[in-house]
Amino acid sequence: MSPRRRLVVLLLTLTGISFTALFALGLRSLNNFEVAMARVLREGALNAAELTAQRIQRDFKSPVFNLLEQIDHPAIVNFQLGPISETLQRRAPEFPMIAVFFVWSLAPEGQEHPLLFFSAASSSVGDEAKVGGVPEEVATHGFYVDPPLAASLQQQARQDAPLRKNYALSYLTVEGNKHHVVIHFIYDEAERRDLRGFVGFLTDAEHLRQHYFRDLAFLWTPNKNRDFPALAISILDEEGAEVSRLGRSLMDDFAAEAQFPFLFFDIDLFESLLPLRPDVHYWTVRIGYEAGGIPSLAHQETMQQRWAWLLVCLVAVVGIVLTARATARDMLLADMKSQFVAGVSHDLKTPLTKIQLFADTLESGRVRSPEKAKGYYRVISAQARKLSIMIGELLDFSKIETGFREYPLEELDLCAVLRSSLEMFEDELSSGRFLVEVNTPNSEVPVLANAEGLQQLFSNLISNTLKYSPTDRFLRVALSTANQWARIELTDHGIGIPRSEQQKIFGKFYRGKGALAMAPTGSGIGLAIAENVVNAHEGTLSVNSVPGEGSTFIVELPLLPESWEVDSEADSGH
Ligand code: ADP
Repeated sequence: MSPRRRLVVLLLTLTGISFTALFALGLRSLNNFEVAMARVLREGALNAAELTAQRIQRDFKSPVFNLLEQIDHPAIVNFQLGPISETLQRRAPEFPMIAVFFVWSLAPEGQEHPLLFFSAASSSVGDEAKVGGVPEEVATHGFYVDPPLAASLQQQARQDAPLRKNYALSYLTVEGNKHHVVIHFIYDEAERRDLRGFVGFLTDAEHLRQHYFRDLAFLWTPNKNRDFPALAISILDEEGAEVSRLGRSLMDDFAAEAQFPFLFFDIDLFESLLPLRPDVHYWTVRIGYEAGGIPSLAHQETMQQRWAWLLVCLVAVVGIVLTARATARDMLLADMKSQFVAGVSHDLKTPLTKIQLFADTLESGRVRSPEKAKGYYRVISAQARKLSIMIGELLDFSKIETGFREYPLEELDLCAVLRSSLEMFEDELSSGRFLVEVNTPNSEVPVLANAEGLQQLFSNLISNTLKYSPTDRFLRVALSTANQWARIELTDHGIGIPRSEQQKIFGKFYRGKGALAMAPTGSGIGLAIAENVVNAHEGTLSVNSVPGEGSTFIVELPLLPESWEVDSEADSGH
């Protein structure tokens, strides 16, 4: 391997290695990116769950201080339903999470005040079932009675009031329905001994589902961030049953969750209620992504980058392959050129040596017989002609290369050109003991052609037969006409050409493997010139060959229109 070739191979190998390393590095960073993306998604979901839980907690603790504490205590104690109703009517709609408010006060001796209920959702008078049997004053203020519920609440209040706390919280099951109840006790002013009345509220999961969790989207601010994948949200009660949800089911596949107490009181002040403190029920906010689980979502999100990276790599690979191919072609051409120079120098030297040898012999006067001298002159002249053809060929080739070679056309007889080309090789053919068959028509075959060009074409084909027929020395030249075309076939029994080389041999500097092995000299431009000549005559040049058996080169040239009727009538001679 030449140093230049070695350097190129080294460079290409280095490029390949760096590219592979770069590709692997890119893939790794894409994987890292996916991991980071999964982390961001997980943190986003967790953040959303915590924010939502905080928001719910804030909402849940507000009715105690913002509503119950706002109801005038003397009004409660004195059972003044007007002011109580007015406060409830005005403020209750701000707390849609509360199902029912209630109020009770101790009546003067001999009287009894019923426990009254007020619901923001059905505050208007007219619910006959509930208002039935209620004094008109009660009904006009929007209150109603509910004896079973009232009995449960009274019982609870009676149980908790002796402890003299301001608030009592409990989970109360009435008719199979679990309520969270908050009672605010009002005691005797001075000694705080006797219970004078109470006010409170209760709510349940069903009410929350219908009136508070109905539109969960309002809880979810980050969901409005357009760059972030859409979220699904789900609220589960303390038993894990779904109270409400927005988007897909998160029962099995979710990204994050956070808990909040199902408690309408400030959890930080909870200790102060001891011992009126139930076991707190914790509910859960669950967050997931609409598009699916985090691993698949992270994968999806990085897909675009993966494709882009793959495309970049593909372009780079194509670039490297094209560069490698171009370099290989350049190197091949460089090799061919150096072979060409060596071959041409050798080819030029052989006839020159012959000319010099025969001329020296003649000059020395050693050749006495005029016949023999004539033979020597013939050799000198033939070799000089050959030399001139070769030099002409080189000049032609450089003209072809630069695009300056022209073939002025004239009307001429193809038979005559073919015969004169054969004559040029008469010596070599006979000294090489070639069996030559020539089949040409008796009449002229007129074509519009360039004599010099055609001679070059036939010379190249005949000289190849001489070069590449080491044992079975045979040449058949056949000229025929048909369908407005003249067809010349040159057949030999030489080394033949493998199928894989049959297209390449017409390329410049190309030399077949067999040719290189048996005739190291040679330019590799003979057939390139031949094809150029044929193209200039709007003809075709092709080859049929079987390795080890021989080759037939076929030239087809257009006939002159006046000879179109002339059909092939072959005449043979040796
Ligand atoms: P050169 O003969 O100098 O190598 P050419 O362009 O004339 O260059 O031929 C190109 C190649 O075609 C040859 O190297 C040889 O491999 C193949 N070739 C041409 N003519 C023949 C033939 N008659 N028999 C076998 N191979 C041939």
